[in-house]
Amino acid sequence: MAQNSFTKHCRQEADTTALAQKLAHSLSHFFQVDSSSHLNISLEGDLGAGKTTLARHLIQGLGYEGRVKSPTYTLCEPYPIKIKARHLDGEVTITAHHFDLYRMRDPLEWQEAGFVEHFDEPGFCLVEWPEKAEGTLPAFDIEIHLKAGADECDRQIELKAMSDRGAIVLERLHLQP
Ligand code: ADP
Ligand code: MG
Repeated sequence: MAQNSFTKHCRQEADTTALAQKLAHSLSHFFQVDSSSHLNISLEGDLGAGKTTLARHLIQGLGYEGRVKSPTYTLCEPYPIKIKARHLDGEVTITAHHFDLYRMRDPLEWQEAGFVEHFDEPGFCLVEWPEKAEGTLPAFDIEIHLKAGADECDRQIELKAMSDRGAIVLERLHLQP
């Protein structure tokens, strides 16, 4: 049975990196099977919790070799990701859209900026500060909640599947060593 939620205790940044890489591996497998699919993933937690750090390692874990910077001022940064599509016997490119909605002045600014279409393009959206959109975003398949722990580098990271597709991704994450 699919496991719908779990919490990982990350005592240092390297643990968060390892978790992001595992998630990358699991997402890669998901898109290898269905490269036209789309997933929405939220990243929630206070400033400095590690949302951008996790997003960066996730995107790079999927093979993106350039810099992954915080989209604080642009609201959204796209990253092309190459996936080996099983059924096509070749490579396809999906897009990871990394959002940071912290600086939105209006909950609908993301729509006015023309970002609606990104929410069903092949690939996935990673959204920091989804609460700034006040419930106007499409539903999430996976929610990731990051919380500061006892010391400076300590984090509790909870991953929750909110849809069947999200559950498939998290289930595969458990299969990894
Ligand atoms: P956010 O996007 O949530 O505001 P950032 O990822 O920009 O947060 O910043 C998190 C900061 O915390 C980075 O400077 C990172 O190096 C540091 N950090 C320390 N320990 C961890 C950890 N276990 N996981 C993630 N980041 C950590
Ligand atoms: Mg950030």
